[in-house]
Formats: sequence, structure tokens, C-alpha cells
Amino acid sequence: MKADSIRFSFQIPIAARVRQFAAATRQLARAALPGQCALCGNLSQALLCGGCDAQYWNEQRLRCATCALPLAASYLRREREDVRAHCTACLEAPPAFNDTLALADYRAPLDTLAVELKFRARLAAGAEFARHLHRVFEDSGLPRPDVIVPVPLSRPRLIARGYNQAWAIAQPLARRLGVRSDASLIARVRHTSAQSRLDLDTRRRNVANAFAISGDVRGRHIGVVDDVMTSGATLDALARAFKFAGARRVTNFVALRTPKD
Ligand SMILES: [Zn+2]
Ligand SMILES: [Zn+2]
Repeated sequence: MKADSIRFSFQIPIAARVRQFAAATRQLARAALPGQCALCGNLSQALLCGGCDAQYWNEQRLRCATCALPLAASYLRREREDVRAHCTACLEAPPAFNDTLALADYRAPLDTLAVELKFRARLAAGAEFARHLHRVFEDSGLPRPDVIVPVPLSRPRLIARGYNQAWAIAQPLARRLGVRSDASLIARVRHTSAQSRLDLDTRRRNVANAFAISGDVRGRHIGVVDDVMTSGATLDALARAFKFAGARRVTNFVALRTPKD
């Protein structure tokens, strides 16, 4: 029994180290070989070739100012009157966060970058998302957050993956914004089951009380970074935790937004 528990305690870190080593080897191989565009496969030294870079980042899409859900063109008139447009759900039951900036919908071909970042440790995709999120922020007129935090992974998941993909976006974004980034400000204290197959109510219950704040956030404006926003339940729970601890404002920075549940 004791021997089993000792063996188990060593198994996870070794597996994580092997994964980290494999990821580092893949990155080295990419650096040594002539690069390929992550989206179309054409030769490119940058993550994206010039064609894909110009084509896919300029999605003109009106989004809810609070949750970044795409809105129908009928909302455009209100936008022209300089009133921030909102989806019905946010008007009826506002989430705990104040604003969400998103680059594009979660769909082909840009979803490839999120998959490369999350499952293949292609950290350059994180830097690319950060570069564009910074541009979207500068155009938004929103106030600058005081600190940038990534959506945390639970410890078992962090150990299994070896890195947090949201941190890979949060760090370069914070550098561009000229603000502090802090991955230790919020922790996931409960390991929640994978969200993607659950309905919205179940997701909300699943993430309630899943986070713990460490540090003084009173009066602070927190920028929360994630790779993909689906239902918004996780970001809502996170913002709720920050507000409960006294944060003044929470702005989400998400790379890709799932259009509908
Ligand atoms: Zn390309
Ligand atoms: Zn909304």
C-alpha cells in the first residue's frame, strides 16, 4: 500500500517532464527547419504566412460588449449611436465581468492555432494571440487593467499538460500592455470535469466555488486571459471570485469565442 502510493507520487511529475521535454524538442525542431504557416502550410518563417495574416485577423463582427457574443446586424444602429451593444442574455442577467474582448469566432481556420497552443505546446500561437489582443484593446477605448491573470488550470491538469495555455497568452499580452502579470493571484482549488459536453446550468454549478484568490485585489481592475471562451461560465465564476474579494472591474481577453452553445 505504502509502496503503491510512493510510486504514484513519482509517476505524475515524470510523465509531465517527459511531455515538457517532447514539447521542447518539437519547438527546437520547428526552429531549425524552414517554417510552415500554421494555417495553410505554405513556407513561412513567421507562425502565419503574409496571406493568412492579412486574411483571418480582420473579422468585422459586432459583438456584445460584455460577453463578446456575435450580434445580428440589427444591433448596428445602436452601436452608431455610441451606445455599447449587448446581447439579450447580458441585459437580462449581467455576468460578474464587465467587458470581454475577443479576436474572432472559434472556428476554422483560426481554431487550429488554439489547438496548436493547447495540445501541441506551440507557444508562438500564444504570442500571436497576444499581439492581436493588444491591438483590439488599443482600439476598444477600455481602461487599462492593473494586472493580467490567466484562467488557472487545476494542479492535476497543469501537471499533466506541463504548461497553462492561457499563461502563454497572458504573459506577452501583459508585456505589450505594460502591466504586471500574475499567475499566482488566482488558483483553481477544485478540479472540475471537462466542460465541453455539459449544458450551461451544469457548467455554472460545475465551476461555482472552484477558485480561490490569494493577494489583495481591492479596488483593482483585473484583466483575465483565456484561449477560448465557450459558455462564459468559467469566466463568470472567476470574475465573481475577484469581485467578492473587492476587485473593481474585470475585463476578459479571449482569443477565440464560440458563437453559440
Ligand atoms: Zn498561410
Ligand atoms: Zn452578452
